[in-house]
Formats: sequence, structure tokens, C-alpha cells
Amino acid sequence: MDRLAEPLRQAGLKRANISLDSLRRDRFKEITRRDALDRVLAGIDATLAAGLHPVKINAVVVRGFNDDELEPMAAWARDLGVELRFIEFMPLDAPGDWTRDQVVPGGEILARLDAAFGLEAPDPRGSAPAERYRYRDGRGAVGVIASVTRAFCAQCDRIRVTADGQVRTCLFATTEYDLRSVLRSGTGDDAVAQVYLDAVARKQWGHRINETDFVQPARGMSQIGG
Ligand code: SF4
Repeated sequence: MDRLAEPLRQAGLKRANISLDSLRRDRFKEITRRDALDRVLAGIDATLAAGLHPVKINAVVVRGFNDDELEPMAAWARDLGVELRFIEFMPLDAPGDWTRDQVVPGGEILARLDAAFGLEAPDPRGSAPAERYRYRDGRGAVGVIASVTRAFCAQCDRIRVTADGQVRTCLFATTEYDLRSVLRSGTGDDAVAQVYLDAVARKQWGHRINETDFVQPARGMSQIGG
């Protein structure tokens, strides 16, 4: 984003979500296997300078790993004017190391933020994944995505297309719909539309993280565009 924020805005991009799970250089490197925290911070600055709005920062909270950064990250986001969204750790990690005791529940996250900064009652949510709370002092808002402990699948209207052209109707889908080959076949818009219709018609009711028959999808978050 430090190079592309402005060209992307000129191409029509209006808003941005950026993943950042730690403000500590050593942790960032451990998570991403790159010593590139400074570049991501520069990218966030460039995104703001390009006038994209809102700029949301997604941070996955993992107990015993980065949960000591809740308040520092919230303070940083408030100072910078970006909207931070804390996300419960979901079993979408590439190594498959997720365990339930690593999940910091959304309720615990909110209680800590409320104690540190003071939060208003939540905004109306609709189909958005995040519960959004304004800070009582008027300096911004914070979101919590409690996918594990307060699943919101019944309201979910999201689908996604991966970088390799597969339509997924849920983060935890084990089935994908091949949009790329239909696009490349040149059979036209109706065929493309049919891929979406077939996919949406089969959208599952939700994840089964809390069920004994849960199956972790073969592709992790970074492979499906998150
Ligand atoms: S249905 Fe799937 S994508 Fe939608 S909220 Fe539930 S887990 Fe997430």
C-alpha cells in the first residue's frame, strides 16, 4: 500500500481493510515471517494520505501471544484515526494449530476496552460481521468480530472470490465454485451469473466450530483472501 494506495484510489478504490496483528516488530516478524512492520505502517499512512475512507485495521487476538496489545493497539488506532477491529482467533490458521483456549472472547475484549477507554452502547449491526462501539470521548470507534463465541452466521450475507477465481460462500466452506474457468471460457455474463446463483443457493447456514463434526477447510485464511 505504500506504493499502491494512490494508484488504487485513482482506479476507483474507496476504502481499505488492512491486517495487522501486532505493533511489536518481533511479533510481526514471527506472524508474517517478514521483518516488514515498518512497511505496513508506511502503507497505512499512505492509505490515509490517499484519502481512502474508512481505513479499517483487522487484528486477530490470540491468548498468550498478542493479547497484551489490546489497549496499546486501540490507543494507537485512536491517535491515527483508523478503525481497529479485534477478531476472535478462528480455526483458519495455515498450520492447523488453533485450540479453543487461544480464543480471547469478544466479551473479554470489550470489557478491557471499556475499562481502558469507555465505550458507548453498540451501533446497530445489520449484516456486518463486526459489532461496532464508539468511544465515549468521541475519538473514534472500535469493532469486535466474535466469530467463535457469538457467531453471527444467521445474519451473514457475505461471499468472496479468491485470487485464483473460486467463489466461496463462507470462510469455512469446504466447497468452492470455479468462476475462473467460466470467465476464461468466454461463455458470457449469464454463465458467470449462474455460478453465483448456484453458489448462493447452497450457502451453508454457518460454521460448525462449536460442533463435534467441525472440519477445518483445506485452505487457510491467507489463501482465501483474508
Ligand atoms: S456464514 Fe461463514 S462467512 Fe458468514 S459469518 Fe458464518 S462463518 Fe463467517
